[in-house]
Amino acid sequence: MKIVFVSSEVFPFSKTGGLADVTGALPKALSSLGCEVKIFTPKYSSIDEDKFGLKYNWKIGEMPIRVNSIIRSAHLHQALLPDSNVEVNFIDCPHYFFRGQIYTEHPDEDERFILFSKAVLETLQRFNWAPDVIHCNDWQTGLLPLFLRDNYNWDKLFENTATLYTIHNMGYQGKFSTSTLLSAEIRSGFYFPGGPVEFEDSVSFMKTGILFSDIINTVSKTYAQEILTPEYGAGLDGVLRERKDDLYGILNGADYSTWDPAHDKHLPYHYSSNDLSGKLKNKKFLLEHLKLPFAEDIPLIGIISRMVHQKGFDIVTGASTDLMNLDAQWVILGNGLSEFENLIRSLSKKYPGKVSAYIGYNNELAHLIEAGADIFLMPSKYEPCGLNQIYSLRYGTVPVVRKTGGLADTVHDWHHLKSLGDESGTGFTFDDYSSYTLYTTVKRSVETFPDKSTWHKIQMNGMKKEYSWETSAKEYLKLYQKAVEKRRNI
Ligand code: ADP
Repeated sequence: MKIVFVSSEVFPFSKTGGLADVTGALPKALSSLGCEVKIFTPKYSSIDEDKFGLKYNWKIGEMPIRVNSIIRSAHLHQALLPDSNVEVNFIDCPHYFFRGQIYTEHPDEDERFILFSKAVLETLQRFNWAPDVIHCNDWQTGLLPLFLRDNYNWDKLFENTATLYTIHNMGYQGKFSTSTLLSAEIRSGFYFPGGPVEFEDSVSFMKTGILFSDIINTVSKTYAQEILTPEYGAGLDGVLRERKDDLYGILNGADYSTWDPAHDKHLPYHYSSNDLSGKLKNKKFLLEHLKLPFAEDIPLIGIISRMVHQKGFDIVTGASTDLMNLDAQWVILGNGLSEFENLIRSLSKKYPGKVSAYIGYNNELAHLIEAGADIFLMPSKYEPCGLNQIYSLRYGTVPVVRKTGGLADTVHDWHHLKSLGDESGTGFTFDDYSSYTLYTTVKRSVETFPDKSTWHKIQMNGMKKEYSWETSAKEYLKLYQKAVEKRRNI
């Protein structure tokens, strides 16, 4: 099967969150299953051409693409996804992508991804290569299924090309003013109150993606159910309910070639479920590095997260005094809203021997925290899939999570299952989104930690779990098949 994978982030070239991890790994797994996969992503100025061996494609040359009535010139660079034969196509248009960040708040943010989506189709035309499925991801690629069905409908090349639209987060929908209609050359007939492109008097990239693609999915089964409700649907639950027969949930995998303590290249000491002594050495190393005192019997709680409301920082704020009174140490890595960054900074100042904060992005430290911490906290308000709890399971770092989305699908409460006579729990979970339940659940984990045999059992249960991309990729293949059948009316 021929697949085009379109994403605004691909690890290791560009990353702000889990989307990059997915698009850096799933294409590899699909390729191993025999698919021919081409990835498309923007060539941001932060991507190191020499490091990744990007090559300008002279055959394609310059592609004129009209956005907002101005003809821009786009061109193509290519490289291979590391450790694979998967071709990565980087769409370059310096006017749009030579900027300080991957995402901006500039007034032409819509134009950047209009150009990108159109350039994907223009490149495929020049390759004369018709994929069976174009796999779009998140709002940045939401207009592509409409372009395929309307603006590029004249081209027989795409006659049998189906689309799959994956929602990685309902919280980011790509809503822009109606000037987008002109910029993208969307026919006015698609825009009217309640129409397929309109949402709250704006143009919605995500709504368009949901309504024009053949099949839709999100990144866990629970989140696929949750987004059909007003609480989690972020205003688009009605639209999703309209398409609920075409909506699926597939849990993300973990890229264990990068995230496994047995061979993680960022760790000073390797370990596995056969021998956890390396984990303790990593804890010692990490605490020294953070200038916190080492005490084997005091649990170290880790957080690696974007500091935003979605990730539960408002309930962390409410619980912070109680949490600090627990006999535990904290290492917190992340950045985001200044109110939460300031809270975390102030905790590290107020409790110097107890809390270490790194405000920023640091991939190496993220690996060290996964290995060195005893407990990993992820109290999300909602969580489409979540990757860090999946990594934590493999690193023997017991997750404490709110039971929502992918967190509910991957972490099972030790005490709850134990009360049913089942000893297969992998962490600690809570339902109620409140500071109080967050606090009592963290407390429960801290109080369980000294019981070494129970703790070891919980760690082992988690370390044995396998959330491989191979399993997810097989499920994606089934969805591609469904999309193709729908497109061809089979
Ligand atoms: P989301 O995509 O919603 O941010 P996920 O749990 O799906 O959350 O994925 C987050 C990914 O980003 C993980 O690989 C995590 O390690 C990484 N990450 C998040 N914040 C940071 C940070 N400040 N420094 C390093 N890595 C980070």
